[in-house]
Amino acid sequence: MIKNPVPWPNGARCAVVFTWDMDSDSILHLAHPNDADTRLSTNSMLRYGPEIGVPRIIDTCRDFGMKHTFFVPGWCAEQFPKAVEQMVEAGHEVALHGYLHEYPNELTQEEERFWTHKGTEAIAKISGTRPRGYRSPWYKYSKHSTDVLLDEGFLWDTSLMGDDVPYLVESKKRASGQSLVELPSRWQLDDWPQFVHNHDLDFMMPIASPQYAMDVYMAEFYAMWEHGGVWVNCFHPFCTGQVARMMMLREMMSKMQAKGDVWFATGEEVALHVQKVIAAGTYKPRVDRVPFYEGRLPELEPGYAMKSR
Ligand SMILES: [Zn+2]
Repeated sequence: MIKNPVPWPNGARCAVVFTWDMDSDSILHLAHPNDADTRLSTNSMLRYGPEIGVPRIIDTCRDFGMKHTFFVPGWCAEQFPKAVEQMVEAGHEVALHGYLHEYPNELTQEEERFWTHKGTEAIAKISGTRPRGYRSPWYKYSKHSTDVLLDEGFLWDTSLMGDDVPYLVESKKRASGQSLVELPSRWQLDDWPQFVHNHDLDFMMPIASPQYAMDVYMAEFYAMWEHGGVWVNCFHPFCTGQVARMMMLREMMSKMQAKGDVWFATGEEVALHVQKVIAAGTYKPRVDRVPFYEGRLPELEPGYAMKSR
């Protein structure tokens, strides 16, 4: 089904990249800038991520001999440096997730540049390494994100959803050849739709059982294993870091390891491998030049919406 599977290292059938977005309470401040401080219960629910979830996830990774990728907003790294230090100490990748979880597609190019730079500097200072991977808060990758990220020296992104295998993203403003390696995300591999239920965040999903969620995630894994794709999840330490869900995660990791012929890697390792096989001529990725559109479609003449209703 996948026309151009990647030649994975050691003949692996697929690549698996476990990623975590350590949003902590940044999302509450963004949603309620004037009174987030009065919402202590939600604050505590979100701070569970760096305080309880991250150390538990790191212990689990150690048990399974795996390295994961953690996306951290710069502000969260400043608030919870210990969590970031624990990630670094255990050899995990620390990547960027905005500064205060601001939405890039709602910013001007200059604003996005400012916040991306500020976030990058914060992560570099606390982790000791400049982040090379990026996921936009809420996957809200903007029309300017490609240029901003390339100017900041980023190598790879996982905000877009345009394929089953890694591909390249280029900016229409630049000559071709300057690109980000895209490790595509998909909502089926996000824990938010399964579990997040909170009035202050305006998100009230019926809470799925860990078993149900695992079925959704594993269906994607078996599909990628069968057809040579990449499996990139997006879990949150405050959410999947809870005990019952971590039991599910351990079961899932065991099943994946038992299946065999799987390359478990960080996002950066996969992006570097993709660059290598492209240079060697053994992989021809699809290239998306973005943005796809500029402004309103000419076909939608003024008044179209009114007429169509
Ligand atoms: Zn996030």
